[in-house]
Amino acid sequence: MFRVGIDLGGTNIAVGVVDENNKMLAKHSVPPLAARPWQQVATDMGDAVASASAKAGLSMADCLQIGVGAPGTCNSRTGVVSHAYNLGWDQVPICQFLQDRFHLPVKLSNDANCAALGEAVAGAAMGYQDVVLITLGTGIGSGIIIDGKIYAGMHSAGAELGHTLLVLDGEACTCGRRGCWEAYASATALIRQTRQAQSAHPESILCQTPPEQVNGRTAFDAAKAGDQAALAVVHTYARYLAAGLTNVVNALAPEMILLGGGICNQGEYLLSLLRDYVEKNCFGQKEGAIPEIRVAQLGNDAGILGAAAL
Ligand SMILES: [Zn+2]
Repeated sequence: MFRVGIDLGGTNIAVGVVDENNKMLAKHSVPPLAARPWQQVATDMGDAVASASAKAGLSMADCLQIGVGAPGTCNSRTGVVSHAYNLGWDQVPICQFLQDRFHLPVKLSNDANCAALGEAVAGAAMGYQDVVLITLGTGIGSGIIIDGKIYAGMHSAGAELGHTLLVLDGEACTCGRRGCWEAYASATALIRQTRQAQSAHPESILCQTPPEQVNGRTAFDAAKAGDQAALAVVHTYARYLAAGLTNVVNALAPEMILLGGGICNQGEYLLSLLRDYVEKNCFGQKEGAIPEIRVAQLGNDAGILGAAAL
């Protein structure tokens, strides 16, 4: 028997066939071509499920269930994607649609939640029950696993840790509030902080990069070369990130926090700064419930494996 996971992204519909040990047997992906009626996208999703199963040499008769990870707000109880702006989806009953085609149970969750579950069943957090995944990208994505299951709250609208407060009346956030963690610790925020340092420190080697080419690596590269202004950017950014992680530790005391996204390529250089801050600042300090802080392992496969495990 096998399960199918669908990761519905803005640039890719990725489908994976997974065995009982959460091993990926086959994958198939197609572009979503978002500016279409949702029924067409959903039909393509179904076709991709059939293609992935055929690639694995399996018949849908041996499939136990299908899981869908979708962007935006996804109501796991009703199986409806409430809003997914980048797909132009509003109140889409995706689970019912796929159930009608395959006559199998179809589960739904948000893509960030699926990625967290994927890491917990088959990635860096395998064997852990209480795990939080934080993805540092344009914004901050987050998924919370408690007792091995996704926690998302009423209408599956919770676990939006990026939109918890770091600074009252602080920087504007995409959600309309000011001072969210995301506005200080996302990759977008790091790029803003790097550009501000360029303006303030014309002597810095940061200024060798044109402002429009600054990315999440620029400040780290200059800091490793010993540039003082860049070191200040990196250390301040690490404190913003770690302050939010400390809030997560104090609220949930997970066994493990995983970090995903391009900034995590900095590896131990960044992680050691974060661990140091969390140890000194969490409730109980060194005697507190300090989680392991590691980099996520599965990349894009996390969403597929998590969807299959819903
Ligand atoms: Zn926000």
